[in-house]
Amino acid sequence: HILSRQSLPTDRSPLVMETAVLSDHRRKKILVTGGAGFVGSHLVDKLMMEGHEVTVLDNLFTGQKKNVAHWFHHPNFNLVIHDVTEPIHLEIDEIYHLACPASPPHYQFNPVKTIKTSTMGTLNMLGLARRVRAKVLLTSTSEIYGDPQVHPQSEDYWGNVNIIGPRSCYDEGKRVAETMMYSYKNQNKVEVRVARIFNTFGPRMHPNDGRVVSNFIIQALQNKPLTVYGKGEQTRSFQYVSDLVDGLHALMNGDYDGPVNLGNPDEFTMKDFAEYVKKLTKSDSEIRFLEKTEDDPSKRKPDISLAKEVLGWAPKVSVEMGLTKTISYFQSVLDEAGEIIPT
Ligand code: NAD
Ligand code: UDP
Repeated sequence: HILSRQSLPTDRSPLVMETAVLSDHRRKKILVTGGAGFVGSHLVDKLMMEGHEVTVLDNLFTGQKKNVAHWFHHPNFNLVIHDVTEPIHLEIDEIYHLACPASPPHYQFNPVKTIKTSTMGTLNMLGLARRVRAKVLLTSTSEIYGDPQVHPQSEDYWGNVNIIGPRSCYDEGKRVAETMMYSYKNQNKVEVRVARIFNTFGPRMHPNDGRVVSNFIIQALQNKPLTVYGKGEQTRSFQYVSDLVDGLHALMNGDYDGPVNLGNPDEFTMKDFAEYVKKLTKSDSEIRFLEKTEDDPSKRKPDISLAKEVLGWAPKVSVEMGLTKTISYFQSVLDEAGEIIPT
């Protein structure tokens, strides 16, 4: 690789990223739907730095232009403001299909739209993949396991989802999206990859994302009460975003085409997690217990044996290290914004 140093203008930090220069036959045309969102924008950074031509397709529902603004002037980068529920024609080699709100308050804001995004959006991407013979990766979710009766969750577990509950627009949307992926593979020979992502956190989470990591950090940094839903005995296992991006990349570029869990098995109760965030932020916040949310899964932890075996992948960033980076990111967001009241 010949490296070119591209000094990139951004409104947030004097970011300088190195982009490789690839020969024409090695440079891929890659579409990232949802590329202006939290995970998508980090994935875009990796693909751009590898020297590929990257097109971000996003309707900016939960994504933000500033997450990718540092690439606006790069010749390999394109941003298309478009809704995945509408068909689109593009010449591409690979699709990372992330477009879908991921935080419970956001995907429950307009459940019908969430279902359309997962179903019509995935159909549109699969139709495009079939037409141009592109490989397509779906970011599915640990939510397809619902409130699991098996712990930890491995890929052969079929899940326990309430079909008509408040989370079903997301959970069932992703379940049918997975079904579509394998129907297109079997019927139309589309090359597919499916990542089942467990709770992921890091810089560029929207301050009003509403998920637990950003809520607790923003609350703790402002010495406001940390809001634990229910008794806080429910568990989650948290992965840092760079590990997820490496896992998605390994999955797309490997041969294995069944669903693969990507997550960090480090499991916390939400009560303990609130204490941990308080400790790392050196905060005096109280912990306030609020009403439990409906159908909140009681436990969640990935079995990542398959990812280790077929991708040679395992998380590298500890929760402590990831939280430290995320805390300093949100501190800088707060320094700029003044006060933030999380959703
Ligand atoms: P996010 O909300 O930050 O990003 C989603 C992106 O998709 C946003 O940029 C949004 O504007 C865009 N989008 C939403 N609906 C769209 C539509 N109809 N058309 C075009 N663009 C649309 O969420 P994220 O955390 O970055 O999640 C990315 C993907 O990973 C999602 O598919 C999500 O289901 C999956 N996932 C994430 C996690 C996690 O913990 N972050 C866990 C499991 C699965
Ligand atoms: N949660 C909480 N306080 C918050 C936000 C979330 O106690 O301010 C809990 C939520 O009830 C769930 C866990 O934290 O049990 C993870 O929630 P999140 O929305 O981050 O992701 P989920 O895994 O539920 O999709």
